[in-house]
Amino acid sequence: MSWRTRSNLAWLRALPGIAEDEPLASRTSFGIGGPADFFLELGRPEAIEKALEGSRERGIPYLLLGAGTNLLIADRGVEGLVVRVVNREHQVDGTRVRAGAGLKMMRLARIVADANLRGFEFAIGVPGTVGGAVYQDAGCWGKEIREVLVEVEGYVPGRGVQQWKPNDLHFGYRTSALREGPLQGALVVTATVQLTRGDGEEAKQLMTRLTRERNETQPIKTKNCGSVFKNPKGDSAGRLVQAAGLKGARQGAAVVSTLHGNFIVNEGGATAADVRKLIEHVMAEVKRRFGVDLEPEVEMVGRGQ
Ligand SMILES: Cc1cc2nc3c(=O)[nH]c(=O)nc-3n(C[C@H](O)[C@H](O)[C@H](O)COP(=O)(O)OP(=O)(O)OC[C@H]3O[C@@H](n4cnc5c(N)ncnc54)[C@H](O)[C@@H]3O)c2cc1C
Repeated sequence: MSWRTRSNLAWLRALPGIAEDEPLASRTSFGIGGPADFFLELGRPEAIEKALEGSRERGIPYLLLGAGTNLLIADRGVEGLVVRVVNREHQVDGTRVRAGAGLKMMRLARIVADANLRGFEFAIGVPGTVGGAVYQDAGCWGKEIREVLVEVEGYVPGRGVQQWKPNDLHFGYRTSALREGPLQGALVVTATVQLTRGDGEEAKQLMTRLTRERNETQPIKTKNCGSVFKNPKGDSAGRLVQAAGLKGARQGAAVVSTLHGNFIVNEGGATAADVRKLIEHVMAEVKRRFGVDLEPEVEMVGRGQ
């Protein structure tokens, strides 16, 4: 039975702040995708939890959205309710920092440096939120969030608020129990990271250097979703794409970056279908040339994906 019953639509329309047929493309770094049937932007954890609980009880599909930096949203949009998580509070307590899931990793990296703490500089390379980073163990320059994570407060619709230790989240390379396991559909509310005392100015200098290096090697200022593919064991997806002669390959306005082979750039007006076709073409060519199965790191969501 469809979730679009009269009472479900009435419940959704009565949610404070609800928008209908809300465009999502501008809420993703790719700038691609159709609308959400229903859309909410919420900061208070209790309000997010209430919306998710109500959706579960009524059989309404929902999708959590952070900064939209690892998503390819379908051209026909997203069914049900999309909740953009924007709780951005933080507390520094000695060498521990607790951050709301909606806080950007880059912002948290600066907060940590301002508190003269070290060990979070890698996060300056991750444009997503804390919640999105926990969801798939985001990392950069050889370090991942799980290495500094000590506790996560979460919410599982039907089961309520939970406290998770890193082991409970079954982290793997760009995945966790939230992405591919028993906690699918759960919400990250806050994450607490353990850092070490150090010189905040040195941390800032390191972040400036890392950012400069990255700007020279990756098309950071374009519309993209970061790495399109996971790196295969012992190799790099970017190297394989380049070796297959696929830099500059194009489908509509979606192009494999000429700067870095593991990026697809939306030159303006690319559709999700364009990007999907290009991804499939790259996967097929890399398989044909080198026998390697590339696996997408970008998550494809929405109708028909
Ligand atoms: C230029 C660029 C560079 C990048 N570089 C890196 C990099 O170096 N390393 C790296 O790891 N990634 C990188 N990324 C990818 C991206 O920033 C990360 O994957 C990030 O963790 C995604 O977070 P987000 O908030 O944007 O999540 P979104 O893209 O909004 O969502 C991704 C998934 O996370 C889920 N999610 C979001 N918030 C929550 C929450 N509160 N609770 C539960 N689930 C949630 C969503 O439902 C969705 O399934 C890059 C992206 C870009 C555009």
